[in-house]
Amino acid sequence: MARVAIAGGAGFLGSHLCERLLADGAEVICVDNFVTGRPENVEHLLTNRRFRLIDRDITEYLHVPGPLDAVLHLASPASPVDYARLPVETLMVGSVGTHHALGLARAKGARFLLASTSEAYGDPKVHPQPETYWGNVNPVGPRSMYDESKRFAEALTMAYRNSRDVNTGIVRIFNTYGPRMRAHDGRAIPTFIAQALRGEPITVAGDGSQTRSVCYVDDLIEGIVRMLWSDECGPVNIGNPHELTILETAELVLRLCGSDAPITFIPRPVDDPSVRQPDITLARERLGWEPKIGVEDGLVRTIEWFASQFLVPAQVA
Ligand code: NAD
Ligand code: UDP
Repeated sequence: MARVAIAGGAGFLGSHLCERLLADGAEVICVDNFVTGRPENVEHLLTNRRFRLIDRDITEYLHVPGPLDAVLHLASPASPVDYARLPVETLMVGSVGTHHALGLARAKGARFLLASTSEAYGDPKVHPQPETYWGNVNPVGPRSMYDESKRFAEALTMAYRNSRDVNTGIVRIFNTYGPRMRAHDGRAIPTFIAQALRGEPITVAGDGSQTRSVCYVDDLIEGIVRMLWSDECGPVNIGNPHELTILETAELVLRLCGSDAPITFIPRPVDDPSVRQPDITLARERLGWEPKIGVEDGLVRTIEWFASQFLVPAQVA
């Protein structure tokens, strides 16, 4: 039976990963300080004898008693609204927190997996983005606390691999959505769904022509688990190449919610990437992975979950 520690395990992706690894038979130690995660995300797991929750800030110290087969590092504010609100915390968890997580993996002889991001490519000048592209990041811009902390975390991970003999892997996660996102986390899909269900105007930034490629959470988790138990070092892109403009995304959410809420156009954030699409050739070849859940299917599942949270009848088309 594998024994794994997940830093950031009470967040959106982390909680799905805890669930999945428990279902696979692993013992899971979730470490989280709840800065953006929620106890409700994992409270249904607390009765499982193979699950343990440790309330701790990993920038202070990351100690987990007993042996470990793997350390997964997902701890970081992840939405633009969260990391703008928590700039120093974001840089500290990407640097000091990553150092602690790597140190833990080294001490236990465990595999280490870093959840990096498509933001490592910044506002990309190569499209779609292969892992070989080095990116176009503004190091002092309003997204720099996130982008640069993840780029530093990648570099530290490679340093531990090359000089301290830790078995490491890096996944670059592209925009992922699904149940347990927070309605107010500022990311486009939960924002649009919450607005559509409440009949409020849908806030599209700029003219909505910027693109994102969105992946349903179950597909993403499958990719992470395959990477975890492989010997691949990465970085490997994990995401769904199905690319939509933000305006198309808003219109699709409206249609699937059966909502006639209006669309309102708001100012586009500075340094907002204009395009984003993963090249997943490497994940296909090395991990035998590709996404299976189409965007309409994934959005319907997500809308149903949000509707259940708001206690409104789901009128999903
Ligand atoms: P999230 O905010 O829901 O989860 C992050 C978790 O980390 C939260 O539970 C938070 O409380 C915890 N955390 C933050 N700082 C911590 C600290 N110092 N000590 C302990 N715990 C801490 O975000 P998410 O969407 O689940 O993202 C998870 C990871 O995946 C992040 O590292 C993020 O950068 C990466 N990622 C996510 C996406 C996406 O689309 N969701 C895309 C790219 C990368
Ligand atoms: N966006 C939007 N309306 C919102 C929130 C976001 O139009 O209410 C836009 C945002 O400017 C960006 C895109 O949607 O162009 C995706 O934003 P998100 O925060 O979901 O992800 P990221 O920018 O990190 O890829």
